[in-house]
Amino acid sequence: MANYIPEPFRIKMVEKIKMLTKEERAEKIKATDYNLFGLRSEDVYIDLLTDSGTGAMSSEQWGGLMRGDEAYAGSKSYYNLIEAGKEIFGYEYIQPVHQGRAGEQVIFPLYLDKGKFAISNTFFDTTRAHVELTGARAIDCVIEAAKNPAVRAPFKGNMDIPKLEKLINDLGVENVGLIVLTITNNSAGGQPVSMENIRATSEVCKKYGLILELDCARFAENAYFIKRDEPGYQNKSIHEIVREMFSHADMFHMSSKKDAIVNMGGVLGVKDANHPAIPGIKANCVSYEGFYTYGGLSGRDMEALAIGLFEGTDEDFLRYRIGQAEYLAALLDEAGIIYQSPAGGHGLFIDAAAMLPQIPYYEFPAQVLAIELYKEAGIRTCDIGSFMMGNNPDTGEQIKSDFEFTRFAIPRRVYTQAHFDIMAEALISIKNRAHTIKRGLKITWEPPVLRHFQAKLEYI
Ligand SMILES: *Cc1c(COP(=O)(O)O)cnc(C)c1O
Repeated sequence: MANYIPEPFRIKMVEKIKMLTKEERAEKIKATDYNLFGLRSEDVYIDLLTDSGTGAMSSEQWGGLMRGDEAYAGSKSYYNLIEAGKEIFGYEYIQPVHQGRAGEQVIFPLYLDKGKFAISNTFFDTTRAHVELTGARAIDCVIEAAKNPAVRAPFKGNMDIPKLEKLINDLGVENVGLIVLTITNNSAGGQPVSMENIRATSEVCKKYGLILELDCARFAENAYFIKRDEPGYQNKSIHEIVREMFSHADMFHMSSKKDAIVNMGGVLGVKDANHPAIPGIKANCVSYEGFYTYGGLSGRDMEALAIGLFEGTDEDFLRYRIGQAEYLAALLDEAGIIYQSPAGGHGLFIDAAAMLPQIPYYEFPAQVLAIELYKEAGIRTCDIGSFMMGNNPDTGEQIKSDFEFTRFAIPRRVYTQAHFDIMAEALISIKNRAHTIKRGLKITWEPPVLRHFQAKLEYI
C-alpha cells in the first residue's frame, strides 16, 4: 500500500497552473522539435523537468531576501553564508558561486588539463562537460548493482572501489587529476553513497595522494539515506552524518538549487583553510564569478541560501521529501512499472528501455516516454539516457548509456499528493498502450556540448 507522509508545512502562497487539451499539447511539443526544454512552463501542468532551482522558498527565506546586504565586498549576508557553511559542513573555507557548474569551472582547471583523467562514481552532465572543457577525460566507476534498475539494493550510487584502484593503476596515478564523488549519484537515479563507501574512496585517494572532491548537490538527501539504511547511523542526527560525510573529503562544490532550496546559487568549500588550492580558487572566482565575497550572487540570494542550508537538512522535511518519491514508487510497484529501485532522493527514474523495448538506444526510448508523458497529462520530465549522454568526444559516435531513464525530478515543497496520483495514472496509461508506440526519434540538429538542452528531434 502506498503511504504518503504528510507535509511538515502549510501553504502560504499559490501559483495558478493551466490545463491544455491533449491536442494542444501535441501541437506545443511538436513546435519545440520534440525537446522538452523548449516548452514554455505555462504550457506544463506538472513540471518535473528538474528539482534544480524549482523548490518553494519558506517565509523565513523570503524574509531573508529583504535583509540581504548588497555591499560589493564583505557583505553581512556573505558572512551569514560563511557561518552557515562552516556549521553545516565543518569546512574552514566556504565560497559562494552563482550555481553548481560555476564551482566546476572554478575548481576543475586547477587539477585537470589535456591528457588527464577525472574519475567519479558517475559524472553529472554539466560536471562531465566541465571536465571535458579542460581537455581532460571523465570516467565513470559506479558499482555494478547500479546498472540493474529492477534490483532493490541500498546505496546503488557507490563507487566501485576495486575498479577505482585498477583504473588509477592502469591510467597511471600521475595522469589522474581528481576523484569526484557525486552525492547522491544523480545520473544513476538519485541513488545514495554509503558512509562506508565515502570512507573507502577517501582511503584510496589518500593512498595515491589524490584529491577527493564531493559534487554534493543532494548531500542532505544522501545523509537521510545513510540514517535510514546504513547500520550504525539510526541514532545519529542528520547534522552529525553530514559532518562525518564531509570529513572524508578535501573539497566540495555544490549546486544550492537542490538541497539548499534556493532558486539560484552555489557553494564550494575546502576543508583546510591553508589548502594550496585556495589562491587558485579565489583567482578563478574573481575572473569568472565576481569578487570572492559574493561569487556571482546578490546579497539577498546568499541570505536565502544560508537559511536554506538549515531547512534542507531538517529531518522532518527530509522524511516527507523522500516519502513523496517512495509514495509514487509504491503506486508503480502495484502496476509493474520498472524504475531505478529503491526510489532515489530527488525523484524516480523510470526504466524506459523496459517499457519500450522495441525502441533501440540510438532512437532514445527515454525521450520518447518523456514526450508521451507530456502529451498524456502535461507532465514534463526528461531523458537521462543515451540522448543526454551524447557523442563520444573522440570518435563522434553516439554513446550507449548504461541506463535509459525518464526522470521524474520532484521539486521541493511544490506538489501535493493528488499531483503524485496523476503522475502514476499517466504512467500506467502509457504502459498499457506501450506496445503501440512504434517510432523512435532521430536528431536533426545538435550543438557540440550538452546537446540535450537544445537538440532538435523528429520521429523516424
Ligand atoms: C545540478 C547539478 C550540478 C550542476 O549544478 P547547476 O546549479 O545546475 O549548475 C552538478 N552536479 C550535480 C550532481 C548536480 O545535480
